[in-house]
Parts: sequence; structure tokens; C-alpha cells
Amino acid sequence: MLSGVPLWGSSNDGSSGGGDSVTFPSDLVLPIVDKADIPDGYDDPTRSGNPLLDVRGKHAEHIHTNVTVQEFARIDPKLVSCVQDIRNTLGPVTINSGYRPHLYNNEIDGASQSQHMGGRAADIASSGKSGLDIAKTAIDKCGCNIGVGVGKSYAHVDVRGTYASWEYDPGLESDINEYHANVCK
Ligand SMILES: [Zn+2]
Repeated sequence: MLSGVPLWGSSNDGSSGGGDSVTFPSDLVLPIVDKADIPDGYDDPTRSGNPLLDVRGKHAEHIHTNVTVQEFARIDPKLVSCVQDIRNTLGPVTINSGYRPHLYNNEIDGASQSQHMGGRAADIASSGKSGLDIAKTAIDKCGCNIGVGVGKSYAHVDVRGTYASWEYDPGLESDINEYHANVCK
């Protein structure tokens, strides 16, 4: 359990115009990119409030016990613990997509308010587990107010703060909605 441990420790070295950083549950510290230095296409149209982090050269480092930086240049503290909790339940997971820069989201015709742009979403697969298994585990571990997109072999999970569901393969949305209705009454 992480209760009492600040998940999202922000600090400022006291100098004006920079020096802010975020400390992760692994104790990894990543610098926050200064607003003025945010590259074109890395803005956050979802206004998540999650800062852009400088992850250059740090992709293999851990932000939690079993979660690495990968491409999470923006990540919500709730998503950090959510992914770790899912991993603790299901075993090793693969993050197929995490943070998506605005520009990249446009290039792949992503949803205009995709939670990936705010660092609130991860597309998760786990060997031998169905997308429905992963989505159910996400509801169990990350709470009822999440977004879940269910495919046969993977699930999109986001910590948007309200429940939303959709399917990538036919029939799965009604299955996850039924589960949600039972667990979250
Ligand atoms: Zn997704």
C-alpha cells in the first residue's frame, strides 16, 4: 500500500523560471519541462494538469515497482498506481500506448479529447488475459470512475474521473457495462 506516501511529489529548487520536478513512488525524480520550452505538438488539449516531463535517456527507469518510464512524458499519479495495481493482480503487463503528444494523436486520428494526451490513459495487454479480464481488473483496482475501452486482447484504461466505456471488438462493451453495474452499485 502506498497510503501516506506522496505519489506525486512536486518540488521547486526555489529559483524562478525552472527547477520543478516530480518524484515518483520509485523515488525517481524527473524534471518538469518549463512551459516556455514545451515543444510544438506537446501541449495538452485535455487540460489534465499533468506536467510534461523531461524523460530523455530515462525510458528504461522505473517510476513504480514494475512500471517503467517508457514514453510516459506525461503521466497522472493515479495512472501510475492504477497500472501497478493491475500488474500486481494480473502479472506482467505490456503498455502498448501511454502518453501521446497532441501532434502524434492528430497524426493517428485519435479522439480530439483523447485521455492519452493528458497522460491519463494506457493501452494494456497481458499474456493469456483477455481485454475483458484487464478491464474488469481495472475497475476492481482503479475504481468505478475510469474509462475502459475493451478489445479482445487488450484494454484501454484511463483515470478521467468518470465512467466511460467502449469496445474495439463487438459485444465487449455490454459485458464490461454489466460488470461495472454489478461492482459499482
Ligand atoms: Zn487508449
